[in-house]
Amino acid sequence: MNALAATCRNFRQASRLLGIDSKLEKSLVIPFREVKVECTIPRDDGSLASFVGFRVQHDNARGPMKGGIRYHPEVDPSEVNALAQLMTWKTAVADLPYGGAKGGIGCSPGDLSDSELERLTRVFTQKIHDLIGTHTDVPAPDMGTNSQTMAWILDEYSKFHGHSPAIVTGKPIDLGGSLGREAATGQGVVFSTEALLAEHGKSISGLSFVIQGFGNVGSWAAQIFHEKGGKVIAIGDATGAIKNPNGIDIPALMAHKNEGGLLKDFKGADALDSKELLVQECDVLVPSALGGVLHRENAADVKAKYIIEGANHPTDPEADEILSKKGVVILPDIYANAGGVIVSYFEWVQNIQGFMWDEDKVKMELQRYMRGAFTNIKAMCKTHDCNLRMGAFTLGVNRVARATLLRGWEA
Ligand code: GLU
Repeated sequence: MNALAATCRNFRQASRLLGIDSKLEKSLVIPFREVKVECTIPRDDGSLASFVGFRVQHDNARGPMKGGIRYHPEVDPSEVNALAQLMTWKTAVADLPYGGAKGGIGCSPGDLSDSELERLTRVFTQKIHDLIGTHTDVPAPDMGTNSQTMAWILDEYSKFHGHSPAIVTGKPIDLGGSLGREAATGQGVVFSTEALLAEHGKSISGLSFVIQGFGNVGSWAAQIFHEKGGKVIAIGDATGAIKNPNGIDIPALMAHKNEGGLLKDFKGADALDSKELLVQECDVLVPSALGGVLHRENAADVKAKYIIEGANHPTDPEADEILSKKGVVILPDIYANAGGVIVSYFEWVQNIQGFMWDEDKVKMELQRYMRGAFTNIKAMCKTHDCNLRMGAFTLGVNRVARATLLRGWEA
């Protein structure tokens, strides 16, 4: 099942539990606006290259639409649509005054030079600058993009609209970025894990972790789990996977990565077949890379007791069913990886206030939001007698439905 079908299925299940009527259901699921633009740039060698860029603005009932921009070869309209819808539910689960959006360009960022990436980002911004805005739609980084990408968007957007620091979040600190934003998604993954484990009378210390993805989410989550006494026994990324049953020395692995080393060449661990990564014996599995990685072919072999979804939609509905029958507890993406957009919200607030918070305040507020959301999800689980995914979906969908009804449709 593709990401959009899976997201719509989860949404519909939640809307049934909430007793939402079919007309409101239809209005909630259809995106507000979908944009597809041509982005042609001269390559460094003088030849031309054309790419397709997307921005899907899913819903704005609760506030400006919010969501990342992804540079990846698999970016297509259906996937961006699914990810935009997930942002609507995610911002509502966290109770941020935002709606949801997502963008992307179908490209392989690793094959483009920095100046090609800059040209591509500027052309994309030129094509969508009239549709985004501080109080309309606020982009952020996602897979394949980073704070530098946001700096280029800010600069290009400001040529049309004047200096607008709050037009993007996840910016470099020197341009108004927030302290703690880079670590935020990984930090949020850890806070969400702590909330779940506490409920089961457990803590991170002494538990074993397997992490898929060593990018922004996976690498920060790995570092913080390690700092808190967790044993990270296997990690994988697009280049390969490694394992060490005694626990990988994460600071040493970070040093290796920062020197430009590939994960699979790290000396302090053994090579692991990437297909084996998700089915390793462990307490906690943290898929933090691509979507759809847990499916009917591998779900029955998963040995983890807990799955924390650092990635967006890593578990397809068939795997969801197999895993819950096995008693695996899954902390869903729209809660577990919300730390990024929560600190994006803090960044936007700081930009609008023209006042900078210190890192401790950012971290403390992030923890407060993550704990609050968990309590609210659990309350929905109780009301609707459902699992954590449906608890999160009913929480998010209900908030958006209420805002939509209050605003009304009359033209
Ligand atoms: N791309 C991140 C996500 O999927 C962050 C979005 C944002 O900060 O707006 O949640």
